Order: sequence, then C-alpha cells, then structure tokens
Amino acid sequence: MRTGVVILGSTGSIGRQALDVIRHHSDRLEVVGLAAGGHQVELLAQQVHTFRPRAVAVADGEAAALLRGWIGDEVPVLIGQQGLVELACWPEAAITLVAVVGAAGLHPTLAALAAGKRVALANKETLVVGGHLVMAAAQASSPASLLPVDGEHSAIWQCLEGRDLGAAVRVYLTASGGPFLRASREAMAHAAPEVALQHPTWSMGPRISIDSATLMNKGFEVIEARWLFDLTWDQIRVLIHPQSLVHGLVELADGSLLAHLGPRDMRLPIQYALLYPERRPAPVSPLDLTTVGRLEFEPPDLRRFPCLKYAYEAGQAGGTAPAVLNAADEVAVSWFLAGRIGFLDIPAIIREVLDQHEPQPSPSLEEVLTADAWAREAARAAASRRAR
Ligand code: NAD
Ligand code: MG
Repeated sequence: MRTGVVILGSTGSIGRQALDVIRHHSDRLEVVGLAAGGHQVELLAQQVHTFRPRAVAVADGEAAALLRGWIGDEVPVLIGQQGLVELACWPEAAITLVAVVGAAGLHPTLAALAAGKRVALANKETLVVGGHLVMAAAQASSPASLLPVDGEHSAIWQCLEGRDLGAAVRVYLTASGGPFLRASREAMAHAAPEVALQHPTWSMGPRISIDSATLMNKGFEVIEARWLFDLTWDQIRVLIHPQSLVHGLVELADGSLLAHLGPRDMRLPIQYALLYPERRPAPVSPLDLTTVGRLEFEPPDLRRFPCLKYAYEAGQAGGTAPAVLNAADEVAVSWFLAGRIGFLDIPAIIREVLDQHEPQPSPSLEEVLTADAWAREAARAAASRRAR
C-alpha cells in the first residue's frame, strides 16, 4: 500500500521538490492533500490535475474562487487556517509535510501530531515559535512522529541514527554564509532586495533567502536543533562552509567527528523524511568528490551578522522570546523585500523589538500567539520609523 502524503505549501520551493520526490517514488507515495497560499493558484490547479489529491486548501475565499475556476468541483477546497489544519489531519494521510513559510506552520503541525500523523517538518519557524509545545505534542504521539526536513538537521539526524544521543558532545550546523559573506557593512547597508535574494548555493523562497543573507536562518536552525535533538545551547555550533557540501556534523565524546556530505539538493532530505527508514535511489546525481575541489570552514562573523547572536540570546532567554524574534524578523524581512527599509535595518529592528520584550516563561499556545502579535506591531512601528 502507498503512503498518503499531505503537502502544506505545495507551490513553494520545498513543496515543488517534494512533489518531484513523490512522482519519482509513485509506487510508494501518493499525494492526498495539497495546500498553498494566495499566490500561484494556477500552479496549484496544475498540481491538482497532475496529482489528483482528495482535498486542497488555500489561504482565503478569493483564492478558493479562483481555484474553483480552474478545477471546478473536482475536489473539495478548504479555506483559511481552519482549512490548513483540517487538511493537515486528513484521514487518508500518514505523513503531513509542513512546508508553509513562517509562524503559519505552528497550528497545522500541532494538529497533525495530535491526530497521530507523522510530521515531516521543513518549516523551522514552527519550532522557533513554539518548540516546547511541538515537542510535547510529538512526545505524546508515536515514536518518530517528527522528522526533520531542513538539510542540516536531516544530516545531524542521520549522523546520530542508532546512536545514543548522550554520546554526542556537540553538533555543527554548516552555513554557506550567504551572498554577503565577504561584503563590507557599507555594501550590506545599500544592498537591494534582488542582490540579497541571490543565494550563492541554494534556490529557495524569498523569506529564507533573506534570512540566509542575515544568518538569521542559521540562528533559527540553532533553536530548531535545540528542540529536535534536546541539546544545550553550548552543544550547538555554527560553521561557515561556503561550498555547502557538508550539511552537518556530530562530535562524539572521543573527539571523532561524523559528517554528512551530499549534493546540494533538498530533494534528498525530503525523500529521507518521506520514505524513512527506507533508503532508495534518489532523483539526484550522487556527489563526485573528485570534482568538488576545496572544502573550507570558518567561524561566523557575529559583528556583521548579529542576527545569529540575537537568535542564541532569544533561545537562551526562552519562553516567548524566540516567537518575538521570529515575528520581528518576519515583518522586517517583508519591509526589506518591499524596498521600504535597508538590509541592516533588519537586525536593528529585531534588536529594538527584543529589547522591548519581557519574555514570559513556559507560555501556552495563546500566550505565544499574543507575543507574536505584539512583536509584529512593535516591529511595524520600528520599521516605519526607519522607512525611506
Ligand atoms: P516558499 O516561499 O517557496 O513557499 C511557501 C509555500 O507556503 C508556498 O506554497 C505558499 O503558497 C505557502 N503558504 C504560505 N503561507 C501559507 C498559508 N497561510 N496557508 C497556506 N499556504 C501558505 O518557501 P520555501 O523556501 O519552500 O520554504 C518553506 C519552509 O521550509 C520555510 O519554513 C523554510 O524556512 C523551510 N526550508 C526551506 C528550504 C528551501 O530550500 N527552500 C530549506 C530548509 C527549510
Ligand atoms: Mg537549513
């Protein structure tokens, strides 16, 4: 029997690559639900025609009306956050791939775990915003109910497999360093969105591309690793590795380092999560080490990339602080992409909002959402003071 998969965020970078993986393994995997935001309704309609899901979900009524124009009454169209949650728990699905962007991933992830689904989690913001809630829901569900899709975490998970977690003394998350690895602060201050979006090694959605340019993405990944692998902050290190071929490393008690290497292709971690624990040939050519040249590693420069430092700080403060970090970043990145603030305003706005926040320990879901809403408002106020 084939495993039913729901993809939340099917028109995005991860979503499209996941569909490619499913097409490649159509004897083992089948699409039962697709969800996307307001844009790219036509692409979603094409996906519906190709993959014939039992249901689809879109962000609002307008997108639903557009979609019905393309697909008619072929499949039920669910709407809004409620629709996303309903699809995340769809009865015929065994796996829910959460590949929407931002805090929007939290509700469907919690709902899918509560419904006993295996969650393949690409959306790291979910663990940043509500890591303690998600891990509690995962622990209350079956073993292996939460599988990482983020490349570095998939790499570390694979290095740790079959090993007592206590054996690991440290994990290393690698980062390409983004488009501004060697740029001056001056150049960063004046960088246009098109330049900041040009990631040197990966092609991804706009939010994560900007987060990679500020290194906030790596900061989020530190928090993600803390929850997924139950580590202390001191056990999680970041290494700049411009070639992006070593995806993650684990250091054992005797100093041995286990590294995961592979082609720069997100279809590999997606496939690993969807077929786990099975290994099969992937629709990707293996890495030929004779052609890769040098592999370099260096420490991150926290002076030019303070977002990484803010993420450690918010993670250590705990409670509502990481949710505030994410919300402030989400707003600042959208203002930057709209051309309304400069690139270096992003860390400045996040700093301002974090400084105004008194973190609340062990927040409930409602308290997390209240902090998220407060931080968005505070970030918009800080951004409008800086707007040009
Ligand atoms: P993207 O912007 O390309 O795609 C986002 C998808 O989510 C789109 O299909 C969009 O329509 C949908 N969406 C957004 N808001 C929605 C809502 N409210 N309801 C329903 N659908 C909604 O983003 P991406 O690059 O694919 O990234 C997705 C997630 O995966 C992010 O959390 C990102 O950090 C993470 N991630 C991405 C990559 C990558 O290589 N792209 C790697 C690791 C982790
Ligand atoms: Mg990553």
